[in-house]
Amino acid sequence: MTESMRIILLGAPGSGKGTLASRLAREFKLAHIATGDILRRAVEAGSVLGREVEAVMNQGGLVPDTVMVDLIADRLAQPDAARGFILDGFPRTVAQAMALDKLLDRMSLSIDHVFHLNVPEEDLVKRSVGRRVCSECGRNYHLTGAVPRQADRCDECGGELRERDDDGEDTVRRRLKVYQDSTRPLAEYYGACGAFREVDGTPAPDVVYHSVTGWLRGTGRR
Ligand code: ADP
Ligand code: ZN
Repeated sequence: MTESMRIILLGAPGSGKGTLASRLAREFKLAHIATGDILRRAVEAGSVLGREVEAVMNQGGLVPDTVMVDLIADRLAQPDAARGFILDGFPRTVAQAMALDKLLDRMSLSIDHVFHLNVPEEDLVKRSVGRRVCSECGRNYHLTGAVPRQADRCDECGGELRERDDDGEDTVRRRLKVYQDSTRPLAEYYGACGAFREVDGTPAPDVVYHSVTGWLRGTGRR
């Protein structure tokens, strides 16, 4: 599995995309392209992009497709993406998926795997509310699940743990609604292609990771 691999991760907010993508990127040496992280960094830096997207993100809405497609085109052109990549948070609409197809076509690339992480709606709210994210390395913790050793500090890098601005319960519910309306249809969009797999996202992160690597190694469901 040394050839470059290109993966799309689909799943609702709180389905565990970020946790899974970080580990896959580390183990398989892929570029982890998390659009939410890229946008949050832009907001933090106060860049033109950041100022443009801050309000819509905090309200749990979607950044316009044209903005996202430009952002992804730039990101995929960076040298580290040539080794393979994992898209976490993009595409999020059918229009974005169609634009991605065109972009990859132009680069003579294709997607090898599309994984859809399935988690029941009731669990998703619980997972997002109570989430804490390291402000330095982006690692996720949870007040009742993955508790850090030291309160408010990252086990990995000592960075400060913060609550995301869009993880309040009302905003989480809005993000879930947006997901159902705009992103969920992507499971049908990709469902027809041989690369698509449904993955049960309810078990522990380690179990989810192994069921996905089972598919990557071509040995079927684990
Ligand atoms: P989650 O998957 O937990 O909702 P993300 O970190 O992936 O969180 O995204 C956070 C926010 O960033 C989204 O709610 C949305 O406002 C914005 N965003 C990220 N990716 C996209 C995208 N592909 N299209 C539109 N908006 C996006
Ligand atoms: Zn950290």
